[in-house]
Amino acid sequence: MSNNIWESVCEGLLKTVSKNEFNNWIQPLDFQGIEDGVANFVAPTNFIGTWVLRNYGEMIQRHFISEGTIIDRVAFHVDNSISRSALKSSTSSKHEIQKSVSKVSDKSLSETQSVLPVAPLDKRFTFDSFVIGKPNELAHAASRRVAEGGPVTFNPLFLYGGVGLGKTHLMHAIAWETQRRKPGSKVIYLSAEQFMYRFVQALRFKDMLSFKELFRSVDLLMVDDVQFIAGKDSTQDEFFHTFNALVDQNKQIIISADRAPGEIDGLEDRIKSRLQSGLVVDLHPTDYELRLGILQSKAEKHAGHYPEVNMTDGVLEFLAHRISTNVRVLEGALTRLFAFASLVGREVNLDMVQECLADILRASDRKVTIDEIIRKVSDHYNLRMTDILSPRRARTVARPRQVAMFLAKTLTSKSLPEIGRRFGGRDHTTVIHAVKKIEELKSIDNQIAEDVELLRRMLEA
Ligand code: ADP
Ligand code: MG
Repeated sequence: MSNNIWESVCEGLLKTVSKNEFNNWIQPLDFQGIEDGVANFVAPTNFIGTWVLRNYGEMIQRHFISEGTIIDRVAFHVDNSISRSALKSSTSSKHEIQKSVSKVSDKSLSETQSVLPVAPLDKRFTFDSFVIGKPNELAHAASRRVAEGGPVTFNPLFLYGGVGLGKTHLMHAIAWETQRRKPGSKVIYLSAEQFMYRFVQALRFKDMLSFKELFRSVDLLMVDDVQFIAGKDSTQDEFFHTFNALVDQNKQIIISADRAPGEIDGLEDRIKSRLQSGLVVDLHPTDYELRLGILQSKAEKHAGHYPEVNMTDGVLEFLAHRISTNVRVLEGALTRLFAFASLVGREVNLDMVQECLADILRASDRKVTIDEIIRKVSDHYNLRMTDILSPRRARTVARPRQVAMFLAKTLTSKSLPEIGRRFGGRDHTTVIHAVKKIEELKSIDNQIAEDVELLRRMLEA
């Protein structure tokens, strides 16, 4: 029952704070229940506990109250076994969390300072669990190389790509692997946001010396989501100095961001060029094969946890086809399906998918537009868009036009007359003819079949 309260509070919080803030600060909290008017949480690190207490404590309290649960305050406990040894061992378990909780209070803040400012590493994020496909093979290979150590070759390694494509996963995998190969080496992984927080704290507590010492004595520094420090001038400055000091000592640095260094607005030019001076690799949006591979690998894991749940063929293919946004959503969908199937004692089949994932499917229902189709098709065949719309009937123009009409009919919900109208005011019978023609050609002409498939994928990606 108490978890229901926390769920409602979270819903309220989500309306108040940004999704990002929520994911970074609220999501990692483990709600323990209410005792004597105190809402208790376990936070993964002292750092997160302190930060949430300072910045969101009152807000959380208010939301509890507005949900009808009066509490006097919120309290955070920390699993020290995780925050201190995340990089050393992978053996900390939930059980240990309960054993070694300690209170976070303002008093303990000065103690916290000496703890490695590492975010806990996720045990699931290893190279073993990383599925490789065309879109991420380069990023994966570069990460592997860096994790193998040896002479520093790419410094820094800069990984960039959209949300949920595996940047954080790869960074954690590098940290685990480095620790495994060289148990004594000093690895720091943290987000740019945490870097800034540490920096600001050091300024406030006049403790710059230990801050600098800490960051400049590591063997491997990883800073995740570096776009966060764009526009934050003094943090950038400090980051730049840290960066240079480490590169001078031939220490490895790995940075991630949601876009290429040159495209991060509000980042100083000298930093941009520093970031570009090593190897810059991007993670491309997933393709169908990669999504299916990831789903298969995750489904196997779920099957281990829910041996009673059966899944019919075609479900994973359907999901890989329909959910193309990001891997996190894909994982969430699968988790929900297994949990649901186990709860209601049903098998996972396409009907249940439609029912259970209606919201996710609706949200990722990407609407392909006729304009996009015309643009992509003309690009593909090296034509101008006006050629496609023109009355010209030469084969070199007419065939691509038919392909575009076919795609418009199969990928959008527009009616035949509407499609005709959008293709330079043609009759709906012309559209019917085009669709039939392409269907026919697809089965006898490999080139056409490939063109159509490729275009369909690009449009649906
Ligand atoms: P990013 O940091 O790029 O936003 P994450 O690394 O947090 O993305 O990945 C989001 C989720 O998707 C994680 O749970 C991660 O394990 C999973 N994921 C992403 N790419 C892959 C992959 N290639 N193989 C397995 N899991 C993946
Ligand atoms: Mg990330």
